[in-house]
Amino acid sequence: MNKFKKYVENRHEYAKAWKAKTGGKVIGWYEPYFPEELAYAAGMLPVRLLAEHKPDWKSEKWMYASCYPSRDILNQFLLGDYDYVDAIVNVEGCQWMYHAFESALRTKDIPNHYLFLPDYTDAPTSKEVLRSELAVFQGKLEEWTGNKITDEKLDEAIEVYNKNRLLLRQIYELGKAQTPVIHGAEMMSIILADQVMDKAEMNELLEAFLDEVQDREPYKDCLRLMLVGSETFNTDLEELVEELGANICVDELDNGSSYFWNNILPQKDRLLAIAIRYLLRPHNPIKDNNWRRRPQHIWELYEDFCADGVIIAKQIYCHLHGTDNYAVWKLLRERYIPFMYFERDMTVPEEETKLRLESFISYVKQGATHVEGWHKTLE
Ligand code: SF4
Repeated sequence: MNKFKKYVENRHEYAKAWKAKTGGKVIGWYEPYFPEELAYAAGMLPVRLLAEHKPDWKSEKWMYASCYPSRDILNQFLLGDYDYVDAIVNVEGCQWMYHAFESALRTKDIPNHYLFLPDYTDAPTSKEVLRSELAVFQGKLEEWTGNKITDEKLDEAIEVYNKNRLLLRQIYELGKAQTPVIHGAEMMSIILADQVMDKAEMNELLEAFLDEVQDREPYKDCLRLMLVGSETFNTDLEELVEELGANICVDELDNGSSYFWNNILPQKDRLLAIAIRYLLRPHNPIKDNNWRRRPQHIWELYEDFCADGVIIAKQIYCHLHGTDNYAVWKLLRERYIPFMYFERDMTVPEEETKLRLESFISYVKQGATHVEGWHKTLE
Protein backbone atom coordinates (compact mmCIF):
# COMPACT_ATOMS: atom_id res chain seq x y z
CA MET A 1 0.00 0.00 0.00
CA ASN A 2 1.38 3.45 -0.86
CA LYS A 3 1.99 5.75 2.08
CA PHE A 4 -0.57 8.35 0.98
CA LYS A 5 -3.32 5.77 1.07
CA LYS A 6 -2.42 5.16 4.70
CA TYR A 7 -2.79 8.87 5.44
CA VAL A 8 -6.30 8.74 4.01
CA GLU A 9 -7.18 5.67 6.06
CA ASN A 10 -5.77 7.20 9.26
CA ARG A 11 -7.28 10.64 8.69
CA HIS A 12 -9.33 10.68 11.91
CA GLU A 13 -6.27 9.84 14.02
CA TYR A 14 -4.25 12.41 12.12
CA ALA A 15 -6.75 15.21 12.84
CA LYS A 16 -7.02 14.27 16.51
CA ALA A 17 -3.22 14.26 16.83
CA TRP A 18 -3.08 17.65 15.07
CA LYS A 19 -5.54 19.07 17.61
CA ALA A 20 -3.58 17.67 20.53
CA LYS A 21 -0.33 19.07 19.15
CA THR A 22 -1.51 22.55 18.15
CA GLY A 23 -4.54 23.18 20.36
CA GLY A 24 -6.29 24.30 17.16
CA LYS A 25 -9.75 23.54 15.84
CA VAL A 26 -10.80 21.31 12.97
CA ILE A 27 -13.30 22.49 10.38
CA GLY A 28 -15.06 19.88 8.25
CA TRP A 29 -16.16 20.84 4.74
CA TYR A 30 -18.53 19.19 2.32
CA GLU A 31 -18.34 20.74 -1.08
CA PRO A 32 -15.44 21.21 -3.52
CA TYR A 33 -15.81 24.99 -3.58
CA PHE A 34 -14.90 25.46 0.07
CA PRO A 35 -12.35 28.34 0.40
CA GLU A 36 -9.90 26.53 2.63
CA GLU A 37 -7.44 29.43 2.69
CA LEU A 38 -9.73 31.46 4.96
CA ALA A 39 -10.07 28.72 7.56
CA TYR A 40 -6.34 28.05 7.39
CA ALA A 41 -5.63 31.75 7.98
CA ALA A 42 -7.80 31.51 11.11
CA GLY A 43 -5.50 28.75 12.42
CA MET A 44 -7.92 25.90 11.76
CA LEU A 45 -7.29 22.55 10.08
CA PRO A 46 -9.65 22.29 7.08
CA VAL A 47 -10.61 18.66 6.53
CA ARG A 48 -12.65 17.38 3.66
CA LEU A 49 -15.34 15.07 4.98
CA LEU A 50 -14.62 11.91 3.06
CA ALA A 51 -17.15 9.18 2.52
CA GLU A 52 -16.22 5.70 3.66
CA HIS A 53 -18.33 2.64 3.22
CA LYS A 54 -19.31 1.18 6.58
CA PRO A 55 -22.30 -0.91 7.69
CA ASP A 56 -25.12 1.60 7.66
CA TRP A 57 -28.45 1.02 9.35
CA LYS A 58 -29.02 4.63 10.35
CA SER A 59 -28.70 7.15 7.51
CA GLU A 60 -31.77 5.87 5.62
CA LYS A 61 -33.95 7.37 8.32
CA TRP A 62 -32.50 10.80 7.63
CA MET A 63 -31.72 10.75 3.93
CA TYR A 64 -33.89 8.47 1.88
CA ALA A 65 -32.63 7.57 -1.63
CA SER A 66 -29.67 9.91 -1.66
CA CYS A 67 -26.27 9.18 -3.18
CA TYR A 68 -23.97 6.98 -1.13
CA PRO A 69 -21.16 9.50 -0.55
CA SER A 70 -23.56 11.89 1.17
CA ARG A 71 -25.13 9.08 3.20
CA ASP A 72 -21.75 7.62 4.14
CA ILE A 73 -20.60 10.97 5.47
CA LEU A 74 -23.75 11.30 7.55
CA ASN A 75 -23.33 7.73 8.74
CA GLN A 76 -19.85 8.58 10.01
CA PHE A 77 -21.35 11.49 11.94
CA LEU A 78 -23.99 9.21 13.42
CA LEU A 79 -21.32 6.66 14.37
CA GLY A 80 -19.28 9.36 16.10
CA ASP A 81 -16.28 9.10 13.75
CA TYR A 82 -16.32 12.87 13.29
CA ASP A 83 -16.74 13.79 16.95
CA TYR A 84 -13.44 15.66 16.84
CA VAL A 85 -14.73 18.13 14.22
CA ASP A 86 -15.36 21.55 15.80
CA ALA A 87 -17.34 23.21 13.00
CA ILE A 88 -18.86 22.25 9.66
CA VAL A 89 -19.43 24.26 6.51
CA ASN A 90 -21.42 23.55 3.41
CA VAL A 91 -20.91 25.58 0.26
CA GLU A 92 -23.87 26.01 -2.08
CA GLY A 93 -23.70 23.03 -4.37
CA CYS A 94 -25.24 19.62 -4.59
CA GLN A 95 -28.54 19.04 -2.84
CA TRP A 96 -27.57 15.64 -1.41
CA MET A 97 -24.52 17.03 0.34
CA TYR A 98 -26.70 19.79 1.71
CA HIS A 99 -28.96 17.10 3.17
CA ALA A 100 -25.94 15.44 4.76
CA PHE A 101 -24.94 18.80 6.26
CA GLU A 102 -28.42 19.61 7.58
CA SER A 103 -28.95 16.11 8.94
CA ALA A 104 -25.59 16.17 10.74
CA LEU A 105 -26.70 19.37 12.45
CA ARG A 106 -29.77 17.61 13.77
CA THR A 107 -27.54 15.09 15.47
CA LYS A 108 -24.76 17.38 16.63
CA ASP A 109 -24.94 20.92 17.96
CA ILE A 110 -21.77 22.49 16.59
CA PRO A 111 -20.83 25.81 14.97
CA ASN A 112 -21.74 25.74 11.31
CA HIS A 113 -22.10 27.89 8.26
CA TYR A 114 -23.79 27.72 4.89
CA LEU A 115 -21.71 29.61 2.36
CA PHE A 116 -23.48 30.80 -0.74
CA LEU A 117 -21.51 30.51 -3.99
CA PRO A 118 -23.38 31.57 -7.14
CA ASP A 119 -24.31 28.80 -9.58
CA TYR A 120 -23.77 31.30 -12.39
CA THR A 121 -20.10 31.60 -11.67
CA ASP A 122 -19.36 33.95 -14.55
CA ALA A 123 -22.28 36.35 -14.17
CA PRO A 124 -21.20 40.03 -13.94
CA THR A 125 -22.05 40.25 -10.23
CA SER A 126 -20.74 36.85 -9.12
CA LYS A 127 -17.30 38.06 -7.98
CA GLU A 128 -18.73 40.75 -5.73
CA VAL A 129 -21.45 38.45 -4.39
CA LEU A 130 -18.93 35.80 -3.43
CA ARG A 131 -16.55 38.38 -2.01
CA SER A 132 -19.24 39.64 0.35
CA GLU A 133 -20.14 36.06 1.32
CA LEU A 134 -16.49 35.41 2.14
CA ALA A 135 -16.42 38.51 4.34
CA VAL A 136 -19.37 37.13 6.34
CA PHE A 137 -17.64 33.76 6.61
CA GLN A 138 -14.44 35.46 7.75
CA GLY A 139 -16.40 37.03 10.62
CA LYS A 140 -17.74 33.61 11.62
CA LEU A 141 -14.27 32.07 11.62
CA GLU A 142 -12.92 34.88 13.80
CA GLU A 143 -15.78 34.39 16.21
CA TRP A 144 -15.28 30.60 16.41
CA THR A 145 -11.52 30.76 16.91
CA GLY A 146 -10.98 34.12 18.59
CA ASN A 147 -8.25 34.71 15.99
CA LYS A 148 -8.16 37.80 13.81
CA ILE A 149 -7.68 37.00 10.12
CA THR A 150 -5.24 39.70 9.08
CA ASP A 151 -3.95 40.39 5.57
CA GLU A 152 -0.63 38.86 6.62
CA LYS A 153 -2.34 35.65 7.75
CA LEU A 154 -4.27 35.50 4.49
CA ASP A 155 -1.09 36.03 2.48
CA GLU A 156 0.60 33.18 4.34
CA ALA A 157 -2.36 30.87 3.75
CA ILE A 158 -2.56 31.78 0.06
CA GLU A 159 1.15 31.09 -0.33
CA VAL A 160 0.92 27.68 1.35
CA TYR A 161 -2.11 26.70 -0.74
CA ASN A 162 -0.69 28.00 -4.01
CA LYS A 163 2.51 26.09 -3.38
CA ASN A 164 0.51 22.98 -2.59
CA ARG A 165 -1.44 23.20 -5.85
CA LEU A 166 1.75 23.74 -7.84
CA LEU A 167 3.38 20.69 -6.25
CA LEU A 168 0.33 18.55 -6.98
CA ARG A 169 0.34 19.81 -10.53
CA GLN A 170 4.03 18.97 -10.90
CA ILE A 171 3.39 15.41 -9.73
CA TYR A 172 0.30 15.13 -11.91
CA GLU A 173 2.27 16.22 -14.97
CA LEU A 174 4.51 13.16 -14.51
CA GLY A 175 1.54 11.13 -15.68
CA LYS A 176 1.90 12.61 -19.17
CA ALA A 177 5.00 10.55 -19.89
CA GLN A 178 4.56 7.56 -22.17
CA THR A 179 6.25 5.43 -19.52
CA PRO A 180 5.33 7.32 -16.35
CA VAL A 181 6.82 6.89 -12.87
CA ILE A 182 3.43 7.26 -11.23
CA HIS A 183 0.12 5.59 -11.96
CA GLY A 184 -3.44 6.74 -11.35
CA ALA A 185 -4.17 4.92 -8.07
CA GLU A 186 -1.18 6.44 -6.32
CA MET A 187 -1.92 9.88 -7.74
CA MET A 188 -5.49 9.75 -6.47
CA SER A 189 -4.27 8.67 -3.02
CA ILE A 190 -2.02 11.72 -2.95
CA ILE A 191 -4.86 14.07 -3.87
CA LEU A 192 -7.21 12.54 -1.29
CA ALA A 193 -4.55 12.71 1.44
CA ASP A 194 -3.95 16.32 0.51
CA GLN A 195 -7.56 17.17 1.34
CA VAL A 196 -7.38 15.92 4.92
CA MET A 197 -3.91 17.04 5.98
CA ASP A 198 -2.26 20.24 7.07
CA LYS A 199 -1.07 21.79 3.80
CA ALA A 200 2.29 22.99 5.17
CA GLU A 201 3.11 19.43 6.28
CA MET A 202 1.75 18.02 3.05
CA ASN A 203 3.96 20.37 1.03
CA GLU A 204 7.03 18.87 2.71
CA LEU A 205 5.80 15.37 1.93
CA LEU A 206 5.11 16.30 -1.69
CA GLU A 207 8.55 17.86 -2.14
CA ALA A 208 10.18 14.73 -0.72
CA PHE A 209 8.00 12.57 -2.98
CA LEU A 210 9.00 14.58 -6.05
CA ASP A 211 12.67 13.98 -5.25
CA GLU A 212 12.22 10.29 -4.58
CA VAL A 213 9.98 9.55 -7.56
CA GLN A 214 12.58 10.72 -10.09
CA ASP A 215 14.72 7.65 -9.31
CA ARG A 216 11.92 5.20 -9.87
CA GLU A 217 11.88 2.63 -12.59
CA PRO A 218 9.12 3.84 -14.98
CA TYR A 219 6.04 1.74 -15.59
CA LYS A 220 5.68 0.08 -18.97
CA ASP A 221 3.82 1.81 -21.77
CA CYS A 222 0.17 0.75 -21.53
CA LEU A 223 -3.35 1.79 -22.41
CA ARG A 224 -4.10 5.24 -21.04
CA LEU A 225 -7.57 6.00 -19.76
CA MET A 226 -9.27 9.11 -18.48
CA LEU A 227 -11.68 9.04 -15.51
CA VAL A 228 -14.71 11.34 -15.57
CA GLY A 229 -17.78 11.47 -13.33
CA SER A 230 -18.85 11.79 -9.70
CA GLU A 231 -16.30 12.39 -7.01
CA THR A 232 -14.41 9.45 -5.62
CA PHE A 233 -13.31 8.63 -2.08
CA ASN A 234 -10.99 5.70 -2.61
CA THR A 235 -8.81 4.23 -5.33
CA ASP A 236 -10.60 0.92 -5.92
CA LEU A 237 -11.44 1.69 -9.53
CA GLU A 238 -7.96 2.92 -10.41
CA GLU A 239 -6.48 -0.21 -8.84
CA LEU A 240 -8.82 -2.46 -10.81
CA VAL A 241 -7.81 -0.74 -14.05
CA GLU A 242 -4.14 -1.22 -13.20
CA GLU A 243 -4.74 -4.87 -12.36
CA LEU A 244 -6.05 -5.26 -15.92
CA GLY A 245 -2.91 -3.77 -17.43
CA ALA A 246 -4.14 -0.23 -18.17
CA ASN A 247 -3.74 3.07 -16.31
CA ILE A 248 -5.88 6.06 -15.40
CA CYS A 249 -3.49 8.77 -16.61
CA VAL A 250 -5.82 11.72 -16.06
CA ASP A 251 -9.12 12.51 -14.37
CA GLU A 252 -11.67 15.27 -14.32
CA LEU A 253 -13.12 14.70 -10.87
CA ASP A 254 -14.12 17.33 -8.37
CA ASN A 255 -11.83 15.90 -5.80
CA GLY A 256 -9.27 14.80 -8.37
CA SER A 257 -7.47 17.16 -10.72
CA SER A 258 -10.16 19.86 -10.42
CA TYR A 259 -9.23 20.27 -6.76
CA PHE A 260 -5.85 21.80 -7.49
CA TRP A 261 -6.01 22.92 -11.12
CA ASN A 262 -5.92 26.71 -10.72
CA ASN A 263 -4.17 29.01 -8.29
CA ILE A 264 -5.02 32.27 -6.57
CA LEU A 265 -3.56 35.26 -8.35
CA PRO A 266 -2.62 37.54 -5.43
CA GLN A 267 -4.05 41.03 -5.37
CA LYS A 268 -4.59 43.74 -2.78
CA ASP A 269 -8.14 42.72 -2.10
CA ARG A 270 -7.40 39.24 -0.76
CA LEU A 271 -11.02 38.17 -0.50
CA LEU A 272 -11.66 39.12 -4.10
CA ALA A 273 -8.58 37.15 -5.17
CA ILE A 274 -9.90 34.08 -3.32
CA ALA A 275 -13.41 34.58 -4.75
CA ILE A 276 -12.05 34.70 -8.30
CA ARG A 277 -10.01 31.53 -7.82
CA TYR A 278 -13.04 29.52 -6.74
CA LEU A 279 -15.27 30.97 -9.42
CA LEU A 280 -12.72 30.08 -12.10
CA ARG A 281 -11.80 26.58 -11.02
CA PRO A 282 -12.78 23.71 -13.35
CA HIS A 283 -16.47 23.43 -12.71
CA ASN A 284 -18.55 20.60 -11.51
CA PRO A 285 -21.86 20.23 -13.38
CA ILE A 286 -23.92 22.33 -11.00
CA LYS A 287 -21.74 25.39 -11.51
CA ASP A 288 -21.43 24.92 -15.24
CA ASN A 289 -24.84 25.91 -16.44
CA ASN A 290 -24.00 29.19 -18.08
CA TRP A 291 -21.20 28.83 -20.62
CA ARG A 292 -20.77 25.07 -20.46
CA ARG A 293 -17.02 25.03 -19.97
CA ARG A 294 -16.83 21.49 -18.61
CA PRO A 295 -16.91 19.51 -21.90
CA GLN A 296 -14.12 21.66 -23.32
CA HIS A 297 -12.03 21.14 -20.19
CA ILE A 298 -12.54 17.37 -20.43
CA TRP A 299 -11.47 17.44 -24.07
CA GLU A 300 -8.33 19.48 -23.34
CA LEU A 301 -7.28 17.15 -20.53
CA TYR A 302 -7.91 14.13 -22.74
CA GLU A 303 -5.68 15.57 -25.45
CA ASP A 304 -2.97 16.92 -23.15
CA PHE A 305 -2.55 13.62 -21.36
CA CYS A 306 -2.87 11.58 -24.56
CA ALA A 307 -5.60 9.34 -23.24
CA ASP A 308 -6.92 6.52 -25.41
CA GLY A 309 -10.41 6.24 -23.96
CA VAL A 310 -12.67 7.41 -21.15
CA ILE A 311 -14.36 5.78 -18.18
CA ILE A 312 -17.40 7.65 -16.89
CA ALA A 313 -18.21 6.48 -13.38
CA LYS A 314 -21.33 7.97 -11.86
CA GLN A 315 -22.44 7.47 -8.30
CA ILE A 316 -25.96 6.06 -8.13
CA TYR A 317 -28.43 8.91 -7.45
CA CYS A 318 -25.87 11.55 -8.46
CA HIS A 319 -28.26 13.92 -10.18
CA LEU A 320 -25.50 16.40 -11.03
CA HIS A 321 -23.58 14.05 -13.24
CA GLY A 322 -26.71 12.29 -14.39
CA THR A 323 -28.01 15.49 -15.92
CA ASP A 324 -24.63 16.54 -17.32
CA ASN A 325 -23.76 13.25 -18.98
CA TYR A 326 -25.56 14.07 -22.21
CA ALA A 327 -23.02 16.87 -22.85
CA VAL A 328 -20.07 14.61 -22.11
CA TRP A 329 -21.41 11.78 -24.27
CA LYS A 330 -22.03 14.22 -27.12
CA LEU A 331 -18.47 15.49 -26.93
CA LEU A 332 -17.00 11.98 -26.88
CA ARG A 333 -19.20 10.68 -29.69
CA GLU A 334 -18.46 13.65 -31.91
CA ARG A 335 -14.75 12.94 -31.54
CA TYR A 336 -15.05 9.14 -31.87
CA ILE A 337 -13.57 8.69 -28.41
CA PRO A 338 -14.33 5.25 -26.97
CA PHE A 339 -15.95 5.39 -23.56
CA MET A 340 -17.46 3.14 -20.99
CA TYR A 341 -20.21 4.34 -18.68
CA PHE A 342 -21.25 2.73 -15.46
CA GLU A 343 -22.95 3.51 -12.18
CA ARG A 344 -21.30 2.70 -8.91
CA ASP A 345 -21.81 3.29 -5.26
CA MET A 346 -19.14 3.60 -2.60
CA THR A 347 -18.14 0.04 -3.28
CA VAL A 348 -17.23 -0.97 -6.81
CA PRO A 349 -18.94 -4.31 -7.61
CA GLU A 350 -15.69 -6.05 -8.40
CA GLU A 351 -16.57 -9.00 -10.60
CA GLU A 352 -19.10 -7.16 -12.72
CA THR A 353 -16.92 -4.07 -13.14
CA LYS A 354 -13.89 -6.18 -13.92
CA LEU A 355 -15.75 -8.03 -16.65
CA ARG A 356 -16.94 -4.81 -18.26
CA LEU A 357 -13.54 -3.17 -17.95
CA GLU A 358 -11.83 -6.19 -19.51
CA SER A 359 -14.15 -5.99 -22.45
CA PHE A 360 -13.68 -2.22 -22.83
CA ILE A 361 -9.90 -2.41 -22.53
CA SER A 362 -9.78 -5.20 -25.10
CA TYR A 363 -11.27 -3.08 -27.87
CA VAL A 364 -9.66 0.31 -27.18
CA LYS A 365 -6.58 0.79 -29.33
CA GLN A 366 -3.66 2.85 -28.09
CA GLY A 367 -3.31 6.13 -29.92
CA ALA A 368 -6.29 5.47 -32.19
CA THR A 369 -7.98 8.77 -31.36
CA HIS A 370 -4.82 10.81 -31.92
CA VAL A 371 -2.97 11.74 -35.05
CA GLU A 372 -0.93 8.63 -35.73
CA GLY A 373 2.21 8.46 -33.64
CA TRP A 374 1.75 11.79 -31.96
CA HIS A 375 1.37 10.45 -28.47
CA LYS A 376 4.59 8.54 -28.93
CA THR A 377 6.66 11.70 -29.31
CA LEU A 378 6.14 13.11 -25.84
CA GLU A 379 9.35 11.96 -24.16
S1 SF4 B 1 -21.96 12.05 -5.77
FE1 SF4 B 1 -23.14 13.54 -6.91
S2 SF4 B 1 -25.10 13.72 -5.83
FE2 SF4 B 1 -23.62 12.75 -4.45
S3 SF4 B 1 -22.74 14.38 -3.25
FE3 SF4 B 1 -21.39 14.05 -4.99
S4 SF4 B 1 -22.09 15.48 -6.56
FE4 SF4 B 1 -23.73 15.29 -5.01
